[in-house]
Amino acid sequence: MAYISFRERMIIPTYDNPEHGTSGRVVIDHEKCNGCGNCVIICPGACLYVAGVGKDKKAYMIDAPFPDCMSCNDCSAMCKRGAIKVSVTYGYDYFYKILHRGELAPPRNF
Ligand code: SF4
Ligand code: SF4
Repeated sequence: MAYISFRERMIIPTYDNPEHGTSGRVVIDHEKCNGCGNCVIICPGACLYVAGVGKDKKAYMIDAPFPDCMSCNDCSAMCKRGAIKVSVTYGYDYFYKILHRGELAPPRNF
C-alpha cells in the first residue's frame, strides 16, 4: 500500500470533488432504445432512469454534476438493443477519504 505523508493526508480531496476525479458517462441511442428499463435495474451506480410514455419512453442518464457511473458496462451488456454504451471511463487521480457506501440492502432478485 502506498505511503501517505501527513501533509498529503491533510489535502486528500473528498471522493466526489469533480476537480479531482471524473465519473463515467454513457451515450444512449434513442433511435434504438425502447425504454424497457433493464439498464436502470442493473446499474450499480443508480445513474439511469426511464422517462416518457409509449414510443417516447426512453432511458436517460441522471443529469448530476458528478453521477456515480463507474463505467462498468453492465448497462451495455444488459441492453438487448445495443442502445447504450460507455463513452467516458471514470478517472480518479489521487487518494480519497469519503466513500459513498449507501444503505445496506438485500440482494435483488431478478
Ligand atoms: S436496456 Fe437498452 S433499450 Fe432498455 S431502456 Fe436501457 S438503453 Fe433503452
Ligand atoms: S456503465 Fe455501469 S455505472 Fe455507468 S451507467 Fe452503465 S451500468 Fe451504470
